[in-house]
Amino acid sequence: MAEILDGKAVSQHFKDQIKAEVEAMIALGKRAPHLVAILVGNDGGSQTYVAAKEKACHEVGFTGTVLRYPDTISQEELLKKVHEINEDSEIDGLIVQLPLPKHIDENAVTQAIKPEKDVDGFHDINMGKLAKGDTTGYTSATPLGITMLLKYYGIKTSGKHAVVIGRSNIVGRPMSILLSDSSETGNCTVTLCHSRTSNLKELCLQADIVVAAIGRPGFVKGDMIKPGAVVIDVGTTRLDNASKKAGWRLAGDVDFASASENASMITPVPGGVGPMTITGLMFNTLKSRKLR
Ligand code: NAP
Repeated sequence: MAEILDGKAVSQHFKDQIKAEVEAMIALGKRAPHLVAILVGNDGGSQTYVAAKEKACHEVGFTGTVLRYPDTISQEELLKKVHEINEDSEIDGLIVQLPLPKHIDENAVTQAIKPEKDVDGFHDINMGKLAKGDTTGYTSATPLGITMLLKYYGIKTSGKHAVVIGRSNIVGRPMSILLSDSSETGNCTVTLCHSRTSNLKELCLQADIVVAAIGRPGFVKGDMIKPGAVVIDVGTTRLDNASKKAGWRLAGDVDFASASENASMITPVPGGVGPMTITGLMFNTLKSRKLR
């Protein structure tokens, strides 16, 4: 049976480090880092994610502000708010929770955030820096959190074959870049797979590290995992669960039961990549504060 990569515990470890840095900052009379999250509309998932980010801010000693707007807000009004925050010297990081209502161009909003405050790492400048291996920008929080998890467990990546399933700009593509970078948690040979990949199972079976970021519950089965491989499950799909109080449960992209028979290490859902994503965001916000 595979060892569980405990994202919750590792996330706490890094949050404790961040908190200690913030306390040292405050002891020197400096301002605590300040993260602002913009939340538009009433999407249940978005509300949960923003609440978790706000809670984490308080845990590490940041100022966390959530600005809530109705889904009738116009793109112009939203952009005006983004510009105001861009110019506010007391704010270090700004995130706009996605998805946005259909009448708003998500790309226009994402690109309006000053790259220096784009702690989600979605701006073209930050994506470009990532692609060039320039570490002065911000890396998308989920892939960043995964590299922190790999580092914590001392997982050797150099010379390994990593298969990343999913090529989104927020997870799969940046993950593939980080794993192929010349860095402590890189130097892999990376295969980036997507819905048009014809021999996915064959490729997965060659992988020492599998990262699944697809959004299809239980898609990666044990018979796709090479014995001893490390499996990172990014997927978080909300499934109805009438028996639970909340009425839903989170499902990963990996069939945990069968995959953990073959894997040497595996992340659970929940409690794996999710908490590490939040810690990645906290890390980026602290980085922004330190650069000011
Ligand atoms: P996305 O933008 O929908 O991208 C999904 C990717 O999966 C696409 O590249 C798609 O390929 C690929 N794909 C779909 N079906 C496939 C198949 N049958 N075989 C191979 N590839 C397939 O999703 P995302 O934003 O990256 O998110 C992926 C999952 O991670 C979701 O469950 C999301 O909720 C979760 N997530 C979790 C966290 C966290 O903190 N835990 C953070 C972000 C996202 P094409 O490009 O060809 O369409």
